[in-house]
Amino acid sequence: MQGEKNIWLMTQKRVEKTMEMLGLKPGLKEYLREPRRVVEVSLRVQMDNGEIDVFKGYRVQHNSDRGPTKGGLRFSSTVTVDDVKALAMLMTLKTAVVGVPFGGAKGGVTVNPKKLSLRELEALSRQFILELSPNIGIDTDIPAPDVGTNPQIMAWMTDAYSVQQGHFVPGIVTGKPVELGGSQGRDEATSAGVVSTIISALKEMNMDNIEPRVAIQGFGNAGFHCARILHDMGFKIIAVSDTGGGIYNPQGIHPQQVLEHKNTSSSVCNFSGCEPIDSRQLMEIDCDILIPAALENQIDEDNAPHVKARIIAEAANAPVTPEADEILDDRGILVIPDLLCNAGGVTVSYFEWVQNCQSYYWTYREVSSKLKKIMERSFSEVYAIAGERKVNMRTAATLLAVKRVADAVSLKTTRSHCYLDQK
Ligand code: GLU
Repeated sequence: MQGEKNIWLMTQKRVEKTMEMLGLKPGLKEYLREPRRVVEVSLRVQMDNGEIDVFKGYRVQHNSDRGPTKGGLRFSSTVTVDDVKALAMLMTLKTAVVGVPFGGAKGGVTVNPKKLSLRELEALSRQFILELSPNIGIDTDIPAPDVGTNPQIMAWMTDAYSVQQGHFVPGIVTGKPVELGGSQGRDEATSAGVVSTIISALKEMNMDNIEPRVAIQGFGNAGFHCARILHDMGFKIIAVSDTGGGIYNPQGIHPQQVLEHKNTSSSVCNFSGCEPIDSRQLMEIDCDILIPAALENQIDEDNAPHVKARIIAEAANAPVTPEADEILDDRGILVIPDLLCNAGGVTVSYFEWVQNCQSYYWTYREVSSKLKKIMERSFSEVYAIAGERKVNMRTAATLLAVKRVADAVSLKTTRSHCYLDQK
């Protein structure tokens, strides 16, 4: 993607702005702007027809000053190295906002996983982790699921890496099935975190006495679990969509039934009792809470003026462009930014890694209550900074995160040359 739609330039610009506000010195700014390491691999996979195909894969480790680098692996036909760099930087910020002792990384393979057979997908996943193995490790860089990957893929990767090492290494990736050392509650963690931030936002906006109407773009892991949890709490899910299209019913939609329909027909479309809508229309629907839970750049300067929701909860990474941010700010719409809103996923990944390192496993209730505490505390911290500095929640969260990383670097630097006002 070019220009402003390039999420690498977009993320760098957002970070640049906060580094200025914090008064960071040029050297530190330059250091934080660029990734620490970019690994590019060629993956050789024998396809079902016997032919060899080669796929491009990337792993970007952005920053490890607060701990091992952490972040998902994405399988998508649109993956570029710039996207992965941006998403890695976002992970550095995300782990810092919620205060988990990790840095940030991201990986990806340029492939449409839906076009592969199960055997080809397994072969590609195993090959990818083996090619990355010289550069990852339980104490250095720990991958996880992202768009287009799932617990089964994490299971194959854990196995391939463990066979190579000669012993079982469950802590090498997170987001594994529970049977292989995954954490209770990891599957729904991103959404549980999103919901926690929504509840906090409703309280701050004195909207906690209404029956909120919710529209969700994307019905994968994050979108479905957001719909399910909110529905169980009495919220009305009025619209959902996936890559095939969308459905709308002002009376409310039952998420579990939509999932069953999707599992048999491969899309949410044509679910009974609903009007068809497209993904762009969904963004402009009359609702209280809008949850973009799919890909980047979904709310831009064209549709931001028409958004009717009062709260946007970014379950996806980078779904709102900087131009749209300004428009939404002017219109008084509260955007709960990705680096805070969807940080529940990496928070429970941290819990999973801790459990793997200790070989001591927690109950679902322990995981949920620890996650809730971290999400509520992080929301309050970001909300307070937004109020004090009169900035939006994205800038506030970025300020908090960049300051935490900069402070870590500054403590390691013998002659403290990190902040302009420090002699
Ligand atoms: N892919 C998720 C994210 O973007 C989770 C990363 C992780 O658990 O390491 O936050």
